[in-house]
Amino acid sequence: MKNLKLIQTKSELKALIKELKNVSTGLVPTMGALHNGHKSLIENSVKENDFTVVSVFVNPTQFGPSEDYDKYPRTLEKDLEIAKEAGADVVFAPNPKEMYEEIYFEEKETTLVCPPYKYVNRLCGKSRPGHFDGVCTVVSKLFNLVKPNRAYFGKKDAQQLFIIKRMVKELDFDIEIKECDIVREENGLAISSRNSYLSENDKKQAPLIYLSLKKVKELFQNGVNEAETLIDTAITYLKDFEVEYVEIVSKNDFCPPVSKNVQKGDIMLIAVRTKESRTRLIDNIEL
Ligand code: AMP
Repeated sequence: MKNLKLIQTKSELKALIKELKNVSTGLVPTMGALHNGHKSLIENSVKENDFTVVSVFVNPTQFGPSEDYDKYPRTLEKDLEIAKEAGADVVFAPNPKEMYEEIYFEEKETTLVCPPYKYVNRLCGKSRPGHFDGVCTVVSKLFNLVKPNRAYFGKKDAQQLFIIKRMVKELDFDIEIKECDIVREENGLAISSRNSYLSENDKKQAPLIYLSLKKVKELFQNGVNEAETLIDTAITYLKDFEVEYVEIVSKNDFCPPVSKNVQKGDIMLIAVRTKESRTRLIDNIEL
């Protein structure tokens, strides 16, 4: 197994990146509490690059004031083990004061990378104002620090992936964005660091989210292509949750299909909150 280096300062990371000559570099940005979903991203990067950097950073600028920034799981020791097992070379785990300038903590403001409003005022962005500005800002900072050839993102956060791809194009980052499949528990639940918040009852209900997506895909494959019918079908499986949204969007512009008829390749997305622990869970499927 390769040696894994833990780096916690930007200066040390920059110095190491500067030393790499003729080496292809992959970046896997994460908020830590690493699980098999993250591990598959890291393994993809290790396969396709000479050098892999995993960032572990719970990014304050992407959390709203009433969100779970403080209670978000932080498990650096275990993260290092998983990153090492997956073959990473570096874990970059700065603290917020290292990542952002001092003035951010005084003024609660920093220069932000803001994607088009049309893409951030819907779906996850609707209930999380400012979230994607924070994501794009921290990802841009990581791109500037690591200068990767490729960066790895999960399809689980489909809206994030779409927005990042647009940002990379529009800000001329010379980085290939690699899309990685959703990794699931045996019962179908998409693995997430936030699954650790689930109560025993929530855990029993949670697989219904993926079940509803699979049922919708089945219906679509049997010829039902009216968006409203497909969305209503999904909702019937989600009675035990507080549904935030169930939507179908086109992969190309992340907007609902204009004709109201769903095309192959469109994506159904779901966000719900569980009844007991009120954990926010998201999932999606390509139809
Ligand atoms: P996070 O630490 O939750 O911010 O996620 C870091 C990266 O891992 C993002 O690109 C996520 O889309 C990806 N990811 C998280 N969970 C999964 C999963 N179950 N399957 C695939 N990718 C995932």
